[in-house]
Amino acid sequence: MMKNIGIILELDKGKVKETNFGMITLARAKDTKLFAFVMGADVNEVKTDLEAYGITTIVNVVLSDEKLNNPVVRAKALINAIKTHDICVLFGLSTAKGKDLLPRIAAMADAPLVMDCSRVDLEENIATTSQYSGKTMARIKVNGSLLVFGIKPNAIDPVTSPGSAEIVAYDQSHLVSDGFVVIKAGEADKNAKVSLVEAEVIFAGGRGMKNGENFALLSQCAEKIKAGVAASRVAVDSGWVPYSMQVGQTGEKVNPRVYIAFGLSGSVQHFAGMKTAGMVIAVNTDENAAIMSNSDYYVVADALEILPELTKLL
Ligand SMILES: Cc1cc2nc3c(=O)[nH]c(=O)nc-3n(C[C@H](O)[C@H](O)[C@H](O)COP(=O)(O)OP(=O)(O)OC[C@H]3O[C@@H](n4cnc5c(N)ncnc54)[C@H](O)[C@@H]3O)c2cc1C
Repeated sequence: MMKNIGIILELDKGKVKETNFGMITLARAKDTKLFAFVMGADVNEVKTDLEAYGITTIVNVVLSDEKLNNPVVRAKALINAIKTHDICVLFGLSTAKGKDLLPRIAAMADAPLVMDCSRVDLEENIATTSQYSGKTMARIKVNGSLLVFGIKPNAIDPVTSPGSAEIVAYDQSHLVSDGFVVIKAGEADKNAKVSLVEAEVIFAGGRGMKNGENFALLSQCAEKIKAGVAASRVAVDSGWVPYSMQVGQTGEKVNPRVYIAFGLSGSVQHFAGMKTAGMVIAVNTDENAAIMSNSDYYVVADALEILPELTKLL
Protein backbone atom coordinates (compact mmCIF):
# COMPACT_ATOMS: atom_id res chain seq x y z
CA MET A 1 0.00 0.00 0.00
CA MET A 2 1.23 3.50 -0.85
CA LYS A 3 2.57 5.38 2.20
CA ASN A 4 2.52 9.18 2.45
CA ILE A 5 5.79 10.40 3.96
CA GLY A 6 6.06 13.97 5.23
CA ILE A 7 9.27 15.97 5.40
CA ILE A 8 9.58 19.20 7.35
CA LEU A 9 11.99 21.33 5.37
CA GLU A 10 14.57 23.55 7.02
CA LEU A 11 15.36 26.67 5.07
CA ASP A 12 18.10 29.22 5.30
CA LYS A 13 17.26 32.65 3.88
CA GLY A 14 14.55 31.10 1.71
CA LYS A 15 16.85 28.39 0.28
CA VAL A 16 16.69 24.66 1.04
CA LYS A 17 19.59 23.75 3.37
CA GLU A 18 21.88 21.06 1.92
CA THR A 19 21.29 18.82 4.94
CA ASN A 20 17.65 18.31 3.85
CA PHE A 21 18.66 16.37 0.75
CA GLY A 22 20.15 13.42 2.64
CA MET A 23 16.98 13.27 4.73
CA ILE A 24 14.79 13.26 1.59
CA THR A 25 16.98 10.51 0.10
CA LEU A 26 16.41 8.45 3.25
CA ALA A 27 12.64 9.01 3.12
CA ARG A 28 12.45 7.80 -0.48
CA ALA A 29 11.42 4.16 -0.36
CA LYS A 30 9.34 1.73 -2.39
CA ASP A 31 5.64 2.64 -2.61
CA THR A 32 5.99 6.02 -0.94
CA LYS A 33 4.76 9.47 -1.89
CA LEU A 34 6.89 12.33 -0.59
CA PHE A 35 5.34 15.52 0.78
CA ALA A 36 7.56 18.48 1.72
CA PHE A 37 6.09 20.93 4.25
CA VAL A 38 7.38 24.46 3.79
CA MET A 39 6.74 27.44 6.07
CA GLY A 40 7.64 31.07 5.64
CA ALA A 41 9.23 30.84 2.20
CA ASP A 42 8.43 31.33 -1.45
CA VAL A 43 7.64 27.74 -2.50
CA ASN A 44 8.32 28.52 -6.17
CA GLU A 45 11.93 29.27 -5.19
CA VAL A 46 12.45 25.82 -3.67
CA LYS A 47 10.44 23.77 -6.20
CA THR A 48 13.31 22.92 -8.60
CA ASP A 49 15.57 21.76 -5.75
CA LEU A 50 12.85 19.56 -4.29
CA GLU A 51 11.86 18.05 -7.64
CA ALA A 52 15.47 17.00 -8.16
CA TYR A 53 15.21 14.77 -5.07
CA GLY A 54 11.84 13.18 -5.79
CA ILE A 55 9.39 15.27 -3.76
CA THR A 56 5.94 14.85 -5.31
CA THR A 57 3.91 17.41 -3.34
CA ILE A 58 5.06 20.68 -1.82
CA VAL A 59 2.69 21.86 0.89
CA ASN A 60 2.93 25.59 1.52
CA VAL A 61 1.78 25.96 5.14
CA VAL A 62 0.70 29.58 5.41
CA LEU A 63 1.02 31.41 8.75
CA SER A 64 1.40 35.10 9.49
CA ASP A 65 4.99 36.23 10.13
CA GLU A 66 4.32 36.81 13.81
CA LYS A 67 2.92 33.29 14.29
CA LEU A 68 5.75 31.71 12.30
CA ASN A 69 8.00 32.46 15.27
CA ASN A 70 5.69 30.72 17.71
CA PRO A 71 6.76 27.07 18.13
CA VAL A 72 3.38 25.98 19.51
CA VAL A 73 1.46 27.47 16.58
CA ARG A 74 3.97 26.05 14.10
CA ALA A 75 3.51 22.59 15.59
CA LYS A 76 -0.30 22.89 15.49
CA ALA A 77 -0.26 24.08 11.88
CA LEU A 78 1.98 21.19 10.88
CA ILE A 79 -0.15 18.61 12.66
CA ASN A 80 -3.23 19.89 10.80
CA ALA A 81 -1.35 19.76 7.49
CA ILE A 82 -0.06 16.25 8.25
CA LYS A 83 -3.56 14.98 9.04
CA THR A 84 -5.04 16.57 5.91
CA HIS A 85 -2.49 14.76 3.74
CA ASP A 86 -2.75 11.39 5.53
CA ILE A 87 0.92 11.39 6.49
CA CYS A 88 1.92 8.23 8.36
CA VAL A 89 5.66 8.94 8.74
CA LEU A 90 7.16 12.37 9.43
CA PHE A 91 10.82 13.28 8.99
CA GLY A 92 12.60 16.40 10.26
CA LEU A 93 16.22 17.26 10.97
CA SER A 94 17.76 16.72 14.44
CA THR A 95 18.98 20.32 14.53
CA ALA A 96 18.28 23.05 17.10
CA LYS A 97 15.04 23.91 15.26
CA GLY A 98 14.09 20.27 14.81
CA LYS A 99 14.70 19.55 18.48
CA ASP A 100 12.25 22.32 19.31
CA LEU A 101 9.58 21.33 16.82
CA LEU A 102 9.56 17.53 16.46
CA PRO A 103 9.01 16.65 20.16
CA ARG A 104 6.12 19.16 20.27
CA ILE A 105 4.50 17.55 17.24
CA ALA A 106 5.04 14.04 18.63
CA ALA A 107 3.59 15.02 22.02
CA MET A 108 0.57 16.84 20.59
CA ALA A 109 -0.16 14.06 18.10
CA ASP A 110 0.56 11.30 20.65
CA ALA A 111 3.05 9.78 18.22
CA PRO A 112 6.29 7.88 18.93
CA LEU A 113 9.47 9.88 18.28
CA VAL A 114 13.08 8.82 17.68
CA MET A 115 15.68 11.59 17.39
CA ASP A 116 19.23 11.56 15.97
CA CYS A 117 18.48 8.72 13.55
CA SER A 118 21.20 7.69 11.14
CA ARG A 119 18.94 5.17 9.34
CA VAL A 120 15.22 4.41 9.17
CA ASP A 121 13.85 1.18 7.73
CA LEU A 122 10.43 2.21 6.44
CA GLU A 123 9.30 -1.37 5.76
CA GLU A 124 9.88 -2.52 9.34
CA ASN A 125 9.53 0.94 10.99
CA ILE A 126 12.91 0.55 12.69
CA ALA A 127 15.12 3.58 13.38
CA THR A 128 18.86 3.36 14.09
CA THR A 129 20.22 5.86 16.59
CA SER A 130 23.25 6.02 18.88
CA GLN A 131 23.00 5.47 22.64
CA TYR A 132 25.19 5.91 25.72
CA SER A 133 27.42 8.63 24.19
CA GLY A 134 27.84 6.66 21.00
CA LYS A 135 29.00 3.44 22.70
CA THR A 136 26.16 1.41 21.20
CA MET A 137 23.76 1.76 18.30
CA ALA A 138 20.11 1.08 19.08
CA ARG A 139 17.57 -0.20 16.56
CA ILE A 140 14.21 1.03 17.78
CA LYS A 141 10.96 -0.35 16.38
CA VAL A 142 8.01 2.00 16.63
CA ASN A 143 4.30 1.51 16.07
CA GLY A 144 1.48 3.97 15.54
CA SER A 145 -0.63 5.72 12.96
CA LEU A 146 1.96 8.53 12.84
CA LEU A 147 5.71 7.96 13.41
CA VAL A 148 8.10 10.88 13.87
CA PHE A 149 11.85 10.64 13.14
CA GLY A 150 14.55 13.30 13.69
CA ILE A 151 17.36 12.67 11.20
CA LYS A 152 20.98 13.40 12.08
CA PRO A 153 22.37 15.98 9.63
CA ASN A 154 24.99 14.56 7.20
CA ALA A 155 24.08 10.95 8.13
CA ILE A 156 22.93 10.10 4.60
CA ASP A 157 24.59 10.96 1.30
CA PRO A 158 22.09 12.81 -0.90
CA VAL A 159 21.15 11.07 -4.16
CA THR A 160 18.99 12.80 -6.75
CA SER A 161 15.84 11.28 -8.22
CA PRO A 162 14.37 13.83 -10.64
CA GLY A 163 10.61 14.12 -11.04
CA SER A 164 7.93 16.75 -10.90
CA ALA A 165 6.06 18.17 -7.94
CA GLU A 166 2.78 19.98 -7.46
CA ILE A 167 2.40 22.89 -5.04
CA VAL A 168 -0.60 23.05 -2.74
CA ALA A 169 -1.40 25.86 -0.33
CA TYR A 170 -2.53 25.08 3.21
CA ASP A 171 -3.76 28.17 4.99
CA GLN A 172 -3.37 28.13 8.77
CA SER A 173 -3.39 31.90 9.30
CA HIS A 174 -6.56 31.53 11.45
CA LEU A 175 -4.60 29.73 14.21
CA VAL A 176 -4.17 31.73 17.39
CA SER A 177 -1.41 31.68 19.99
CA ASP A 178 -2.52 29.88 23.13
CA GLY A 179 -1.06 32.51 25.41
CA PHE A 180 1.65 30.30 26.92
CA VAL A 181 4.27 31.38 24.43
CA VAL A 182 4.14 34.80 22.84
CA ILE A 183 7.13 35.74 20.71
CA LYS A 184 7.06 39.38 19.71
CA ALA A 185 9.97 39.38 17.27
CA GLY A 186 12.73 37.16 15.99
CA GLU A 187 16.17 38.40 15.01
CA ALA A 188 19.09 36.41 13.64
CA ASP A 189 22.25 36.44 15.79
CA LYS A 190 24.69 38.56 13.80
CA ASN A 191 27.62 36.69 15.34
CA ALA A 192 26.14 33.27 14.58
CA LYS A 193 28.73 31.03 13.00
CA VAL A 194 28.29 27.78 11.08
CA SER A 195 26.08 25.41 13.11
CA LEU A 196 28.27 22.63 14.52
CA VAL A 197 25.50 20.05 14.32
CA GLU A 198 25.09 20.67 10.60
CA ALA A 199 28.67 21.51 9.57
CA GLU A 200 30.18 19.29 6.87
CA VAL A 201 33.70 20.14 8.02
CA ILE A 202 34.77 21.02 11.57
CA PHE A 203 38.07 22.46 12.80
CA ALA A 204 38.49 21.70 16.50
CA GLY A 205 41.05 23.01 18.98
CA GLY A 206 42.20 21.63 22.32
CA ARG A 207 44.69 22.48 25.06
CA GLY A 208 47.41 22.56 22.41
CA MET A 209 45.95 25.85 21.12
CA LYS A 210 47.42 27.36 24.33
CA ASN A 211 45.05 30.38 24.64
CA GLY A 212 41.90 32.09 23.39
CA GLU A 213 43.74 34.38 20.97
CA ASN A 214 45.12 31.37 19.09
CA PHE A 215 41.57 30.18 18.46
CA ALA A 216 41.33 33.15 16.08
CA LEU A 217 43.85 31.27 13.89
CA LEU A 218 41.47 28.32 13.85
CA SER A 219 38.46 30.50 13.00
CA GLN A 220 40.30 32.30 10.19
CA CYS A 221 41.30 28.99 8.65
CA ALA A 222 37.83 27.46 9.05
CA GLU A 223 36.17 30.52 7.55
CA LYS A 224 38.02 29.91 4.26
CA ILE A 225 35.91 26.82 3.63
CA LYS A 226 32.87 27.73 5.77
CA ALA A 227 33.78 25.04 8.30
CA GLY A 228 32.49 25.00 11.90
CA VAL A 229 34.84 25.67 14.84
CA ALA A 230 34.73 23.39 17.88
CA ALA A 231 36.72 22.92 21.08
CA SER A 232 37.58 20.42 23.78
CA ARG A 233 36.30 20.83 27.32
CA VAL A 234 39.75 21.98 28.45
CA ALA A 235 39.59 24.90 26.00
CA VAL A 236 36.10 25.78 27.25
CA ASP A 237 36.91 25.37 30.97
CA SER A 238 39.99 27.56 30.50
CA GLY A 239 37.65 30.33 29.29
CA TRP A 240 39.23 30.48 25.82
CA VAL A 241 35.97 29.84 23.95
CA PRO A 242 32.25 29.60 24.87
CA TYR A 243 30.57 26.39 25.98
CA SER A 244 28.48 26.30 22.79
CA MET A 245 31.68 25.21 21.00
CA GLN A 246 32.33 22.17 23.21
CA VAL A 247 32.11 18.81 21.51
CA GLY A 248 31.93 15.61 23.52
CA GLN A 249 30.09 13.62 26.11
CA THR A 250 28.97 16.76 27.92
CA GLY A 251 28.93 18.97 24.83
CA GLU A 252 27.55 18.95 21.30
CA LYS A 253 27.28 15.71 19.30
CA VAL A 254 28.45 16.38 15.77
CA ASN A 255 28.49 14.36 12.58
CA PRO A 256 30.64 16.14 9.98
CA ARG A 257 32.16 14.52 6.91
CA VAL A 258 35.59 15.72 8.05
CA TYR A 259 36.79 16.57 11.59
CA ILE A 260 40.23 18.16 11.92
CA ALA A 261 41.56 18.21 15.49
CA PHE A 262 44.37 20.61 16.42
CA GLY A 263 46.17 20.06 19.72
CA LEU A 264 43.60 17.62 21.05
CA SER A 265 44.64 14.37 22.75
CA GLY A 266 41.49 12.41 21.80
CA SER A 267 39.95 11.51 25.16
CA VAL A 268 37.02 9.08 25.20
CA GLN A 269 34.82 11.93 26.41
CA HIS A 270 35.75 14.04 23.39
CA PHE A 271 35.29 11.14 20.98
CA ALA A 272 31.80 10.57 22.40
CA GLY A 273 30.78 13.73 20.56
CA MET A 274 32.45 13.20 17.19
CA LYS A 275 33.16 9.52 16.66
CA THR A 276 30.63 9.28 13.81
CA ALA A 277 32.63 11.80 11.72
CA GLY A 278 33.32 10.47 8.23
CA MET A 279 37.04 11.23 8.45
CA VAL A 280 39.22 12.34 11.35
CA ILE A 281 42.48 14.20 10.79
CA ALA A 282 44.71 14.99 13.79
CA VAL A 283 47.45 17.57 14.16
CA ASN A 284 49.49 16.97 17.30
CA THR A 285 53.09 17.39 18.43
CA ASP A 286 52.95 13.98 20.17
CA GLU A 287 52.91 11.03 17.79
CA ASN A 288 51.74 8.78 20.64
CA ALA A 289 48.65 10.82 21.53
CA ALA A 290 45.51 8.63 21.57
CA ILE A 291 43.92 10.65 18.79
CA MET A 292 46.65 9.61 16.35
CA SER A 293 45.67 5.93 16.43
CA ASN A 294 41.97 6.84 16.18
CA SER A 295 42.31 9.11 13.16
CA ASP A 296 42.30 8.42 9.44
CA TYR A 297 45.27 10.73 8.88
CA TYR A 298 47.58 12.49 11.28
CA VAL A 299 50.29 15.12 11.09
CA VAL A 300 53.00 15.35 13.75
CA ALA A 301 53.39 19.10 13.94
CA ASP A 302 52.81 22.24 15.95
CA ALA A 303 49.20 23.35 15.34
CA LEU A 304 50.18 26.99 15.75
CA GLU A 305 52.67 26.71 12.90
CA ILE A 306 50.44 24.66 10.61
CA LEU A 307 47.31 26.81 10.89
CA PRO A 308 48.63 30.04 9.29
CA GLU A 309 50.14 27.97 6.46
CA LEU A 310 46.89 26.08 5.92
CA THR A 311 44.94 29.35 5.89
CA LYS A 312 47.23 30.66 3.14
CA LEU A 313 46.77 27.48 1.10
CA LEU A 314 42.99 27.47 1.44
C1 LIG B 1 32.47 13.39 33.05
C2 LIG B 1 33.42 14.03 32.07
C3 LIG B 1 32.89 14.60 30.91
C4 LIG B 1 33.73 15.18 29.98
N1 LIG B 1 33.21 15.73 28.85
C5 LIG B 1 34.04 16.21 27.89
C6 LIG B 1 33.52 16.72 26.67
O1 LIG B 1 32.31 16.80 26.43
N2 LIG B 1 34.41 17.15 25.75
C7 LIG B 1 35.77 17.12 25.94
O2 LIG B 1 36.51 17.54 25.05
N3 LIG B 1 36.26 16.67 27.11
C8 LIG B 1 35.44 16.22 28.09
N4 LIG B 1 35.98 15.79 29.27
C9 LIG B 1 37.42 16.01 29.52
C10 LIG B 1 38.31 14.94 28.92
O3 LIG B 1 38.45 13.87 29.83
C11 LIG B 1 39.69 15.51 28.58
O4 LIG B 1 40.25 16.05 29.75
C12 LIG B 1 39.68 16.57 27.51
O5 LIG B 1 38.94 16.13 26.39
C13 LIG B 1 41.12 16.86 27.07
O6 LIG B 1 41.13 17.98 26.24
P1 LIG B 1 42.34 18.23 25.25
O7 LIG B 1 42.46 17.10 24.31
O8 LIG B 1 42.15 19.59 24.69
O9 LIG B 1 43.59 18.35 26.24
P2 LIG B 1 44.77 17.34 26.54
O10 LIG B 1 44.28 15.99 26.85
O11 LIG B 1 45.65 18.00 27.53
O12 LIG B 1 45.54 17.25 25.14
C14 LIG B 1 46.24 18.31 24.55
C15 LIG B 1 46.99 17.72 23.35
O13 LIG B 1 47.58 18.79 22.63
C16 LIG B 1 48.86 18.38 22.17
N5 LIG B 1 49.62 19.61 21.93
C17 LIG B 1 50.17 20.45 22.85
N6 LIG B 1 50.71 21.52 22.23
C18 LIG B 1 50.49 21.34 20.91
C19 LIG B 1 50.79 22.14 19.74
N7 LIG B 1 51.43 23.30 19.84
N8 LIG B 1 50.43 21.65 18.54
C20 LIG B 1 49.77 20.46 18.42
N9 LIG B 1 49.49 19.69 19.49
C21 LIG B 1 49.80 20.14 20.71
C22 LIG B 1 49.39 17.50 23.26
O14 LIG B 1 50.36 16.61 22.74
C23 LIG B 1 48.12 16.77 23.71
O15 LIG B 1 47.94 15.55 23.02
C24 LIG B 1 35.14 15.20 30.23
C25 LIG B 1 35.65 14.62 31.37
C26 LIG B 1 34.81 14.03 32.29
C27 LIG B 1 35.39 13.41 33.51
